Order: sequence, then structure tokens, then C-alpha cells
Amino acid sequence: MGDPVTIPPRSGTAFTLDRGQTLTVIDPEGRQVSDLLAFARDDLREVISSGRTLDYANRIYLTTGDQLYSNRSNVMLDIIEDRVGRHDFLLTPCSKDTFRIIYGDTDPHRGCFGNLAAALEPYGVGPDAIPVAFNCFMNVPVDGATGSFTVEPPLSKAGDFITFRAEMDLVMALTACSALQSNGGSFKPIQYRID
Ligand SMILES: [Zn+2]
Repeated sequence: MGDPVTIPPRSGTAFTLDRGQTLTVIDPEGRQVSDLLAFARDDLREVISSGRTLDYANRIYLTTGDQLYSNRSNVMLDIIEDRVGRHDFLLTPCSKDTFRIIYGDTDPHRGCFGNLAAALEPYGVGPDAIPVAFNCFMNVPVDGATGSFTVEPPLSKAGDFITFRAEMDLVMALTACSALQSNGGSFKPIQYRID
């Protein structure tokens, strides 16, 4: 087993993941979201797709046994173990604009979006290529009748994790989310491990 790497609060990172390797995203303290992105290493225009994935799953809440598809309908990642069972795949990464529009911040943090863009720049991925992320541990209950939703604290407890297996060679990006609402009111680290 690889050693876990810590992503400090309100930051992000990028790394490669080879086909057949597993990525475990760990919530070390509990109630902390981590935005996850995947790009095909062969052609970075192939990206993780919320729309395709949810369409094929016929559900918006994904867990063990579900597959995350690309915009070209290829499986990028399998969810092989999930200790939480509640993640979001509807909402875009939090950003300067999120904090300006929703929180009214006058000097907004760059958020997951800015952290993802900075981490992905060395790999040749620009900000406009960033899609909806798979938001590990993000808890967004939806009213089935009206479609309205709220962002609630994650259900994850300290040490909970979700493990993915790569079905292709990937460039990955991962954050420790920067939005108060998503994380139960405090910013905490995230850990990940590659095996
Ligand atoms: Zn975020």
C-alpha cells in the first residue's frame, strides 16, 4: 500500500494514475469534500462527464459498482469501495464566482476551480477544459418532486474513504474543497493514496 499524501485545506493537486492502479480518497477528519477530475492521458480532450455518467447510471447518487464515464462514453474509473455512499456529481467546482455570488465575498478565494486550474496547468489543461467534478463526500439532497436541492455537511466520518480503479491512463486532479457550506463550516485536509 502506498503512503497517503495530504492535500492541505483549501488547496489542490494533480498527478497521473495508470490503468489498473487504484486511487483512494480519504477524509481524515470527517465532513470534508474533495473534488475529483480525470482526463485521458492520450488525449486530454477526453474528460470525465457528469452528464454521460448519470445518464447511464439512471441515478444521481453513485457508489460501489458504479462507473465514471468520459465525454466519449469510455469508462475512466470504477468505484470499487465506498464507505460513505453519498457524493455529488451535479455541481461545478467552487470558484471565485461561487464566493462572490453565493457568499457575497468581496475578495474571494480562488476555490476548487482555481486550485484545479493551477494544478492542471503543467499538464496542459486550461481552465475552460474543466468540467463538473465528481465531488467526493459532498452531500446534496434533492427534493424529488421539485428538483430543488440544498448543500448539507458531508456524511463522511474521520477515516472514511472511496476507492477508484483506473480503466485508462489518466491525469487526475483532486482538492480539499474551499467552500464553507460544503464542509460543515470548517476547512480541513484531504488525503489520497495510490496503490
Ligand atoms: Zn470546492
